[in-house]
Amino acid sequence: MKSCKIKISGRVQGVGFRPFVYRLAKSLDLTGWVLNSTGSVEILIQGSEANIRNFIDALSHDPPPLSHIENIFEEIVEESTYTDFSIIKSREDKGFNFISPDIAICDDCLRELRDPHDRRFGYPFINCTNCGPRYTIIEDLPYDREKTTMKVFKMCEACNEEYHNPISRRFHAQPDACSVCGPHLWIDSLNIPESNLFKEIGKLLYEGQILAIKGIGGFHIACDATNESAVERLRNNKKRRSKPFALMMKDLDMIRRYCYVNNTEEKILRGKERPIVLLRIKDYLDLSPSIAPGNLYLGVMLPYAPYHYLIFDDFDRPIVMTSGNLSEEPIIKDNVEAKDKLKNIVDNFVLHNRNIRNRIDDSVVFVEDNDLTFVRRARGYAPDPLKVSIEVDPVLALGPELKNTFAIGSGNYVFMSPHIGDLKDLETLDVFEETIEDFIHLFRINPEILVHDLHPQYLSTEFAEKFKSFMKVVPVQHHRAHILSLLLDRDIGDPIIGFSFDGTGFGEDGNIWGGEVFVGNLRELHRAAHFKYFPMAGGDYSIENPKRIAYSYLFSNEIEDNGNYLPISPLEKDIIKSMIQNKKNIFYTSSCGRIFDMVSAILGVRSVVDYEGQAAVELEMCAMDSDTSAVYPFEIQKGSSLEIDILPMIKKILEDRQHINRSIIARQFHNTIAYIILSTAEILREKYHINKVGLSGGVFQNRLLLNILSPLLKESKFEVYTHRRIPPNDGGISLGQIALAMKGV
Ligand SMILES: [Zn+2]
Ligand SMILES: [Zn+2]
Ligand SMILES: [Zn+2]
Repeated sequence: MKSCKIKISGRVQGVGFRPFVYRLAKSLDLTGWVLNSTGSVEILIQGSEANIRNFIDALSHDPPPLSHIENIFEEIVEESTYTDFSIIKSREDKGFNFISPDIAICDDCLRELRDPHDRRFGYPFINCTNCGPRYTIIEDLPYDREKTTMKVFKMCEACNEEYHNPISRRFHAQPDACSVCGPHLWIDSLNIPESNLFKEIGKLLYEGQILAIKGIGGFHIACDATNESAVERLRNNKKRRSKPFALMMKDLDMIRRYCYVNNTEEKILRGKERPIVLLRIKDYLDLSPSIAPGNLYLGVMLPYAPYHYLIFDDFDRPIVMTSGNLSEEPIIKDNVEAKDKLKNIVDNFVLHNRNIRNRIDDSVVFVEDNDLTFVRRARGYAPDPLKVSIEVDPVLALGPELKNTFAIGSGNYVFMSPHIGDLKDLETLDVFEETIEDFIHLFRINPEILVHDLHPQYLSTEFAEKFKSFMKVVPVQHHRAHILSLLLDRDIGDPIIGFSFDGTGFGEDGNIWGGEVFVGNLRELHRAAHFKYFPMAGGDYSIENPKRIAYSYLFSNEIEDNGNYLPISPLEKDIIKSMIQNKKNIFYTSSCGRIFDMVSAILGVRSVVDYEGQAAVELEMCAMDSDTSAVYPFEIQKGSSLEIDILPMIKKILEDRQHINRSIIARQFHNTIAYIILSTAEILREKYHINKVGLSGGVFQNRLLLNILSPLLKESKFEVYTHRRIPPNDGGISLGQIALAMKGV
């Protein structure tokens, strides 16, 4: 007879770990106890040595499906004798926590939801230890019902029995509930009996109504995706002219009617995380043409909350499911706020009374070459920690201005926040500050270092300034942070040639960077190449008007727009000319994203944008119609830092524009950007003897570019690294900022 104490850390709370341990101990005739402490599960077992061994083997090899074990620590101890095995009260402790992300309904619960003989038949909030909400309902840790938003629902006798029954799937399932004791769903303005609720929701959708539907991590705005007038009305109400809407579809059969789905995509669509997957469109069929104008991909997800399935029982068409927010603000999570802010956008509200404590958007991913790339890492993934190869001091990294996420880190772990939004207004800033406080509290990390973007005017910089007297505050340049993110994401210790291509970021020389190449590693990165600066007249306004970027470029290089390709008035031309001549309100930029914008405008693909990246996205779509392998001329001027000059290409594009189909030009432009990267990498390899190439920044969300570029780099024997665990866009930057808190630097 031996006693053994075991401590397991990792994602072991909220995933059915204690019930699993209980059942395992019972089956092996072991006695003792199990409890949750902060960030770990502690176990004491007593029994024969062989059974203790079997117990530990089973723990490490066959743990509950949603758990993730980081460490198992075991030691033989002297203990008084226990006669039974029990789950005992949680204990608060030092060390940090892991919180499970929210998980889509499992097959067992789905079966019960459909079973007329089950007591949870048709219950919209059915869940168990293997599925359901987690992060979104947690108020504090250790993870117990009274520290979740479920605490207001007192379990009925039947639920209580399951909760305490070790052989039940709901043994210690904190969000456990049923229609007698748990949360409810209703349509706000209508008095519909529960038995008719989903029929009514289906009817409203068929009638073309726009509904705000409270979800797991926040509100969705929903309508019939085949009803053109409903979708148009939604666009008008939301003042969102053309940015694609995501869709929810009933099942894979429905998705396959509209989109191509390969095996990897199918696996991800059905996975417990249930992200939105960007799929190549096969046929629009009956879908409203306004879903994703000018785009060849559709963002599609499968149902993930039980009531999503119930909605599709009475509605047999794809549903628009876009985030319930105003423009780039954070997703709305509370009933009162939704009714206030969305009242002019939707016709009706489908509400429920399970409070969302922590908001989180749907994740967005795509698959290229069988690899998953994040566009947005949120529900289903966040707040799972990212393990990194370096040790960091307790740190808070404030992230970028657009697509903000922040991160907190300590030791080898980084917790990245879900998508917050664009940190341009005070409303978003409030949520930003609130979520930071929550993260610090939940994960028990007290930052000693604060990292922020170099841009002097960002709200995050202003925020950081306030802490200067209490802690170490460190700025970091945006494009460096992209490369640092990639190094941490892919665990790259060796030096690399890192391409940091995106739209915009404040440079170390005061110019607007965006086409930068760095050489080095996590400790030292130096800028080794960049696109030649060109003037941009009028800052943010010109970013919304790619035609103005193009005209600034042409005028400053003394090229005439002979064919009058740019829809730009003589007055506008004069304004730009005078700005450039007088060097007033001029920014110099090396941005690769702006080069995409410029070419998009010259080709007449998109001269004014209404969402970020639109001109480049539509240029990519335009190029997909051609398969030319031709390349435009460009120059790389050598010096201490290489300078990439695209003037020869732009001149040739203007010439071609007169007699060549613009798809061919657009494709040739993509080829040229790929060859620019290849040539730059080859020159730098020769100079620095580095063979690893890394790609980070929003430009590398361009799937066509990746498809052209990867084989070129591989053919030239480069090892190529792209992002895997976080997005290549600015949503991934906070991870890289963490590197500034590396120990021993
Ligand atoms: Zn379940
Ligand atoms: Zn109940
Ligand atoms: Zn960026």
